[in-house]
Amino acid sequence: MDTLGTVLVTEEQIAEAVTRMGAEISADYEGKELLLVGILKGAFLTMADLARAIQVPVEFDFMAVSSYGDATKSSGVVRILKDLDQEISDRHVVIVEDIVDTGLTLHYLLENLRVRQPASLEIAALLVKEGIQQIPIDVKYRGFDIPPDFVVGYGLDYAGLFRNLPYVTVLDESDLPEI
Ligand code: 5GP
Repeated sequence: MDTLGTVLVTEEQIAEAVTRMGAEISADYEGKELLLVGILKGAFLTMADLARAIQVPVEFDFMAVSSYGDATKSSGVVRILKDLDQEISDRHVVIVEDIVDTGLTLHYLLENLRVRQPASLEIAALLVKEGIQQIPIDVKYRGFDIPPDFVVGYGLDYAGLFRNLPYVTVLDESDLPEI
């Protein structure tokens, strides 16, 4: 596969970060069981790799959300397309996200999940965009702080494409296919 645009985070760097995040989570939840909640679709690769780097027993669940807005900007109005399959009351929950941009999506999700009274609720995100969070979100487990460019790869798409890139790259206009 040809490399696209400027690679921001390489495959090796992602693997290192995910291993580190998995070790942090394993230490913090020692002796406990964990429910990982992956946010579809973007977090599917982070979820798969992070789960395998965690040593404590984990269960999986997924939510799918869409935020209204144009292709590259979040509006903050979030619609739940798929809710959790299971109850989370008294469970230790870690939300797994691909990227935090404005923070609006996670703010909404935190509010939505908190009322279900989990024993604990934390966030793991591979990428956090620096400087543009409209709502400060406490991302306890984070891979990389990145500049506020639009990125694709490792789960992140543009118009449904590029999720399968094994690295994270800035999307240049010249990379866009004719769609
Ligand atoms: P937020 O609500 O924090 O602004 O945005 C969260 C969601 O917007 C992410 O889960 C992701 O789906 C999408 N998003 C934000 N920034 C980017 C980006 O740079 N690239 C891609 N592909 N999606 C992004």
